[in-house]
Amino acid sequence: MKTKEMHFITENIKKLTTHIPESVKIIAISKLKPIEDIQIAYDSGHRYFGENKTNEIKMKWEKLPKDIEWHFVGHLQTNKVKYIAPFVHLIHSVDSYRLLSEINKRAIRNDRVINCLLQLYIAEEESKHGFLLEEVKEMLESQDFANLKNIRICGVMGMATFTENKELVRKEFQTLHTYFKEIKESYFKDCEHFKECSMGMTDDYEIALEEGSTMVRIGSAIFGERDYK
Ligand SMILES: *Cc1c(COP(=O)(O)O)cnc(C)c1O
Repeated sequence: MKTKEMHFITENIKKLTTHIPESVKIIAISKLKPIEDIQIAYDSGHRYFGENKTNEIKMKWEKLPKDIEWHFVGHLQTNKVKYIAPFVHLIHSVDSYRLLSEINKRAIRNDRVINCLLQLYIAEEESKHGFLLEEVKEMLESQDFANLKNIRICGVMGMATFTENKELVRKEFQTLHTYFKEIKESYFKDCEHFKECSMGMTDDYEIALEEGSTMVRIGSAIFGERDYK
């Protein structure tokens, strides 16, 4: 029998899954990549995909098999939550109470509970979104938060500074993991859902794994470089 040459996307996924511990979830970040590329990854058995734009994730959800778990990883505007609320599996990028409250409202309308991660600010760069630890604590202690019944906080997410400085990246991931443990201990001690520390991308996932990541968000190492035209 002639064996067909493996597509590079399939090969990349194979490589990553042998390399990354099974306990860590690999979210294939398919932003700006066509449906066909996602289908190739799907056909090789992968089911977890992530996007950072609401119109793009909705379009892809509509066109692709329904057993895909869709993760939203980009900055989310409150007026766009409604587009993803019917199907999104996990929103990694919750960075304000206002956003969380809107997610709760849309979850109620769709008669579901939406999984969320709290994005924490760990980078030196000004541009990265996220809560400060103090802000998270204040929110988690508030009655307003206690009233949100249709969201489920599953952990935290963070993005390290975009830099060649590996030691800085490591420090930032260590900070995030410390925050994760602290929040877990103080507010979610007996809550089995709170268990995710989403950190690590193509250039820094190995450091993230060493520092306790449970979810890596990998784009270019699976689908190749993105074309930002
Ligand atoms: C694009 C993106 C990724 C993946 O980036 P790569 O460097 O291609 O792996 C991960 N997380 C977020 C939030 C992203 O926007």
